[in-house]
Amino acid sequence: MDRAHGGPGPEEPQVACVEMSKRETGSKKDLPTAVALPGDFLASPEEFLSGKNTYEQQDSVRASLSGRIEKDLSKREVAVRPVVVAKTPKVGDVVVGQVEAAMTSTAGVRISYMNGVKTGAGFPGTIFTRGERGGRGERRTYVKLGDVVRARVASTLNGMNQLSIDEPHLGVLASMCSVCGAVLVPGDGRARCEQCGNVEERKFADDFGQANIQP
Ligand SMILES: [Zn+2]
Repeated sequence: MDRAHGGPGPEEPQVACVEMSKRETGSKKDLPTAVALPGDFLASPEEFLSGKNTYEQQDSVRASLSGRIEKDLSKREVAVRPVVVAKTPKVGDVVVGQVEAAMTSTAGVRISYMNGVKTGAGFPGTIFTRGERGGRGERRTYVKLGDVVRARVASTLNGMNQLSIDEPHLGVLASMCSVCGAVLVPGDGRARCEQCGNVEERKFADDFGQANIQP
């Protein structure tokens, strides 16, 4: 195929785009879905009647809010289904996500589950490891880049999802060896790499390393 050219062609950044378009549309109709903004022209009144979330203005049916355009051919009606706004994390919610950035006292998490339900919204969260258990002034490494963690939303002040892992059921669920990249397995309250023998510390959730982890 394209690779047959053998040239150092530019990498096509298609993966991200495909990933984006895979998101559920919430529509199972065969008609192509188009999105309207408030005031957008949808049809003329001769073609389609004004349905939900639309209004008639002179010689046009227009959208009264933003959403997907739905044309019912049997009723000759055009309607707009509002775009569902993703629920934002609330204080007390239990979330699962992956550590995307790990600093000395904070870690950035991309949230993918909220209270056990998958979310495509990709909310960011921050774990503050300062003040978490560790004791004796030692600086423990609580989470590392790439870890999958379960956390509780402690605060949403200023739109920032502050996460806590200071409960037995919270913390790292899955982790990879920072030396060789193999999956770590539990052992003696630590995580052990069966490939290279490396031992790592984390703040583990009580079900770390189990086969069927529930988000
Ligand atoms: Zn290893």
